[in-house]
Amino acid sequence: MESEPTTPTESFAQLGLCAPLLRALGDVGYEVPTPIQARTIPLLLAGRDLIGQAQTGTGKTAAFALPMLQMLDPDLGRVQGLVLTPTRELALQVAEAVHTYARYLKRVGVLPVYGGQPFHTQLKRLQQGVQVVIGTPGRVMDHLRRGSLNLGALRMVVLDEADEMLRMGFIDDVDWILSQAPEGRQTALFSATMPPPIRRVAKGHLRDPETVQLAHRNLTVPTVEQRCLNLSEGQKFDALTRILGTRENDAVLVFARTKLGCAELASKLQAQGWAAEALHGDLSQAQREALVRRLRARQAEIVVATDVAARGLDVEHITHVINYDIPYDAEAYVHRIGRTARAGRAGAAVLFVTPRERRMLQEIERFIGNRIPPMKMPTKADVATRTVALFKENVAETLGKGGMDLYLNLVEEMAQEGGFDMAEVAAALARLALGDKTIEASLEPEAAAVPEPEQGMVRLFLGAGTKVGVRPADVVGAIANEAGVPGKEIGSIDVYERFTFVEVPARYQAKILKSMAQSTIRGRPIHIKPAATERGPRGKPRTGEARPPRAKRAPKTKQSPPGNP
Ligand code: AMP
Repeated sequence: MESEPTTPTESFAQLGLCAPLLRALGDVGYEVPTPIQARTIPLLLAGRDLIGQAQTGTGKTAAFALPMLQMLDPDLGRVQGLVLTPTRELALQVAEAVHTYARYLKRVGVLPVYGGQPFHTQLKRLQQGVQVVIGTPGRVMDHLRRGSLNLGALRMVVLDEADEMLRMGFIDDVDWILSQAPEGRQTALFSATMPPPIRRVAKGHLRDPETVQLAHRNLTVPTVEQRCLNLSEGQKFDALTRILGTRENDAVLVFARTKLGCAELASKLQAQGWAAEALHGDLSQAQREALVRRLRARQAEIVVATDVAARGLDVEHITHVINYDIPYDAEAYVHRIGRTARAGRAGAAVLFVTPRERRMLQEIERFIGNRIPPMKMPTKADVATRTVALFKENVAETLGKGGMDLYLNLVEEMAQEGGFDMAEVAAALARLALGDKTIEASLEPEAAAVPEPEQGMVRLFLGAGTKVGVRPADVVGAIANEAGVPGKEIGSIDVYERFTFVEVPARYQAKILKSMAQSTIRGRPIHIKPAATERGPRGKPRTGEARPPRAKRAPKTKQSPPGNP
């Protein structure tokens, strides 16, 4: 593997974290500290107060949680760490992270407290003795007022997303809570922005704080076609396979945050038949080199990598970078997309963004000085269209190579034995090679922005189009003659290459379907059936049903891959 000048990256061990924490980090698969972690962990371990200008996605939770856990006295069953968060969701998330990191420490009690949860449950846990409390300011204040929470033994307090707490009107509560905490404790304040009220809190409650703000180096942003895809965590895998299914050839680099995530994703892809491999820090140099060789030889097409492992990866035909997990800072994003468009080739990058990561997207856009326009999720039909196109290319390539005599004999034999014509045999072979679902789905036009039929009308699908000479007049003629529907009652007709949609009054639907079941147009059977709508029946597979197209839009025959127009 070629080496590229890389900045030396510190390890978690170098930051001064203890063995049980390092072991837990190994479990979750973090390879190296994120920039905010590298800067804040040593400071917090040294007992300093801190202002960290960092938002969600930078790894700030571990940045404060790890030092907090390290300085707990496990033999003391009193609250020693307090984290204030703006929302219940964040409190739960932080609590979960703290739990995970504390896995190998001696008995650490962690309790999230927030409004909406019964008071007595929290009381009971507090009485049992917990060491870390994570809560929203209102509820923490209630517990302090009632005396159910005692901060006498507090060693560290963290304000997480302080600007959000300000925005939500909690700042006075925060101020009050801090005034209840013992003088000698350590305080860390994390905030994406530093409006005056936050500065006031810092001035009033932090002792000689160190400010950690991640300075961005000047990086040249590669000219890569960039897109973002807004989705939920649960949609990511499906989106990934669809994008993979619509792309042109060449290699794809997929970024995941952790070693574990990386290995899992690669094996999920393999299970679906993709030539995917994981590239992470646990691989030996020899394994890395072997992987790069397979990429070059095009035996591997998809590499799922962590940021660190992908450094220095320079394979010319990587044309796509997919940011499956959003990077932890804008610089990492630039490094990632720089893996494509090498040697003057065109490249494309897709960034998956879940709702919680909108701010990181904005941060990246600010950093690169450009908006990253959103793309649409490729549909199943897009994937199928690409599959069909690839199939055609492969067939053409095979034909081009010649040497078909043996196979021609075989096809002739099959035709003669069964009394078929050769085209029918070829059709059956294509069907076997592609499967029914693909070809049917490839006929489905995109369903987005489909106008519903007019009131009282339904849309029908006919499996014949311009390719066999169908014209709107033929459709009107057939429906009028065979079903006896007056021509003027027939609504809009959209004729596409291989199918047609026609709107008819709902009251005629049954009659039309019945009387035209066997009909032909221009000598072709038309396979008439109701067109599926976007609101198709739940749970019923839609593959194979036709969907109405967008109004008056030519069907796609070849789809360019997303983000690579
Ligand atoms: P946070 O900014 O704390 O919300 O963290 C965002 C995400 O980054 C979480 O999913 C963490 O599990 C993950 N994360 C935190 N630190 C690291 C790291 N050093 N390497 C990889 N992932 C990390």
